[in-house]
Amino acid sequence: MASVRVRFAPSPTGHLHIGNARTAIINWIFAKKTGGTFILRIEDTDIERSTETLMESIFEDLKWLGLDWQEGPEVGGEFGPYRQSERLEIYRQHLDILKSKELAYPCFCTSDELEEKSKEAKARGKDLYYDRKCLNLPKQEKSDFEKAGRKPVWRFYVSPGGIEWQEPVKGTQAFDGGNFGDFVIMRSDGIPTYNFAAVVDDTLMQISHVIRSDDHVSNTPKQILLYRALGFELPQFVHIPMILGPDLNRLSKQHGATPVGDYKAKGYLPEVLINFLSLLGCSSQSEQEFLPIEKLVSEFDFSRMSKSPAIFDTVKLNCVNGNYILALELDELIFLAAPFLESAGIDPSDRGKLENIFSIIKKNVECLGQIPELVKPFYRDSIRLTDGQAIALYSKDVSQKIYWAFLRYLQSYDHLDAGKFIEIMKLVQKETGIMGKDLWAPIRVALTGQIHGPELPKTAEILGKEKCEGFVRELVD
Ligand code: GLU
Repeated sequence: MASVRVRFAPSPTGHLHIGNARTAIINWIFAKKTGGTFILRIEDTDIERSTETLMESIFEDLKWLGLDWQEGPEVGGEFGPYRQSERLEIYRQHLDILKSKELAYPCFCTSDELEEKSKEAKARGKDLYYDRKCLNLPKQEKSDFEKAGRKPVWRFYVSPGGIEWQEPVKGTQAFDGGNFGDFVIMRSDGIPTYNFAAVVDDTLMQISHVIRSDDHVSNTPKQILLYRALGFELPQFVHIPMILGPDLNRLSKQHGATPVGDYKAKGYLPEVLINFLSLLGCSSQSEQEFLPIEKLVSEFDFSRMSKSPAIFDTVKLNCVNGNYILALELDELIFLAAPFLESAGIDPSDRGKLENIFSIIKKNVECLGQIPELVKPFYRDSIRLTDGQAIALYSKDVSQKIYWAFLRYLQSYDHLDAGKFIEIMKLVQKETGIMGKDLWAPIRVALTGQIHGPELPKTAEILGKEKCEGFVRELVD
């Protein structure tokens, strides 16, 4: 088999989102698995909506995910340029080929005219095909338009007939060629449409497998017609079922953070996203929810991918991310958490203290972005309650009773550790007759400011006697 060459072809009209990232990941894994080449191509033909900033942000997110490309912007390659806006001459040349075969013709219809036609078609319950008005436009009319400065779009002449092809995941695909009418391949400003540019580029870049989300499956018959018309060989098409939200609608903001950058900002790990997105809608050979990248690559197979859409389950993602964090060495976790702590104004330089804190909060962390909130209680000088439930609890008579007793027993210890804290709590229980949650919750509120949190004896040990005493004192009348 010829060497595998796959591409990820984002349009820089938006940030890299979860759906596109999954396409990139699958292409990258497939290239790794087959010893092939992963190519990045920027499809920036939508001049108005494409921006440099968005392109840079796509590069940054791909790099953060660890998806390195062997050909493309920044790295170059034999088949460049890799930005469609720099390839306009190439598309023009290919339009000339189609013109010479009489498979492309200029269309001078204005958008108002086209809209009118589509309204009429709709009213008659017909589909909105182009009526080929300009196919046999009299010469005179054509030159009149040209003289008037009207610039035509170029349409591809669609011959009738069925189009059928085979895919690894979705099996046989069949479309009726007449189903879409003569479509536009070049706009009047000389910018190619997506279908045309993609076919030219995929061929010239020697792409062997076009792997993309199945919302592009309806573009494929048009592309196949163009391949045939240009005398190009077809690549293997692989359309992967889309990702849907749990409500079975297309993935959107509503289902959580869809831009990859938002996941990064929340503290999801790139390895987790790679795992989660590549296994979405797949059965993994080892039936595990997390695999090292090498294993993901070696086990990857399109035959394990389901034909039906994959459901994006944030709860499961959080769980996988949390498990990944739990399995991290403390050193590594501190390293990864440091930027999150710093941006919350917490100095991460006392590693000993952080190791102690992380050893007790680790199991409550689903993403790194939650860490500052969990760590804050250990870094404050004053308790200043803000939680409504905590405020209601501390002022109760029984809580006050507990605080006074706690302070008294604390006096007889010159320093506090988890064991001593438990001894004190037992003494307080004996004296007040209050036990269980009723006893522990007010103390938790005093030491952490929160109703829930990590194990209290260890928390008290990390805070130390002085802080515990000071915090409880703040809350007594
Ligand atoms: N620019 C297209 C997109 O972002 C690429 C589709 C394709 O892979 O052919 O959806």
